[in-house]
Amino acid sequence: MLIFYPIKDGVLMDLVQKIEQLKKEKNAVLLVHNYQVPEVQDVADFLGDSLGLARKASETDADIIVFAGVDFMAETAKILNPDKKVFITAKEANCPMSAMLLKEELLKAKKEHPDAEVVLYVNSSAECKALCDSCCTSANAEKVVNAMDADTILFGPDKNLAYYVQKRSEKKIVAVPKDGHCYVHAIIEMPALELAIEKHPNAIVVVHPECPPDVQERADNIASTSGMVRLARELPNKEFIIGTETGLLYRLQKENPGKKFFPAYEHAVCRAMKQTASLNDVYLTLKEGRNGVSVPEEIRKKAEKAINRMLELS
Ligand code: SF4
Repeated sequence: MLIFYPIKDGVLMDLVQKIEQLKKEKNAVLLVHNYQVPEVQDVADFLGDSLGLARKASETDADIIVFAGVDFMAETAKILNPDKKVFITAKEANCPMSAMLLKEELLKAKKEHPDAEVVLYVNSSAECKALCDSCCTSANAEKVVNAMDADTILFGPDKNLAYYVQKRSEKKIVAVPKDGHCYVHAIIEMPALELAIEKHPNAIVVVHPECPPDVQERADNIASTSGMVRLARELPNKEFIIGTETGLLYRLQKENPGKKFFPAYEHAVCRAMKQTASLNDVYLTLKEGRNGVSVPEEIRKKAEKAINRMLELS
């Protein structure tokens, strides 16, 4: 494994070795989201976005999955792997957007739109997933929605992703809840973006579909984090303004040393993602088997169906 993070400190190096040893001894796999801190990204067996991580979780033959990300991601891994042990590296890592959609609100919307189908962003709770027809991620939302049978789609919990999908679909998209959003992307507003463009006039602007509509409209490209990784590699441009959680910039810079990446807004930092603050959290989770993730079987089975439908459709 390539260790890019400048681990000069003997203690950190020691931790890296201990983590690798524990992974082998326990037949464990470490799945890490793109927004994690650099030193944790560097010990990942797989580094990716929600879709990539969900795929890896469904494919792994490891006995133990350790997830450095947030609650709904570790839950997704457990839903797909009921017989494996799943641990999350920080038990307080709860996504605020996922918490914005309550089961009761979804049931009410379903009652109001009896002919609609429900597509939920994976950034939702297991009990809400259990009530939907398919999950989606920002990488496949358009594809999943357009593959559904119904003309009306209840879509949640991110209203900005709902806006993005509505622009690319003939179907009627109803956002549930009306004001669901990711606060990290919601604060990437036009004044911040204009300032970044003023500072880096030659940079191409790539933003995440969780950003507000006017920011999406101003961007040259809109992409999920996996889409951003691909664009950074494939586009000939040398400078990029990136509108997403700033943790992704480490990966982009590492994979593209000849290019430059600037945040659209440097304060776009997710507190939930940063609950996993260091390698120590990964080490202790692996060593002690702490922060186990569980999902009641009745909910798990229904949620699994919705996640598998997404995996089939994407
Ligand atoms: S970046 Fe936004 S959607 Fe992702 S975990 Fe943080 S709050 Fe949730």
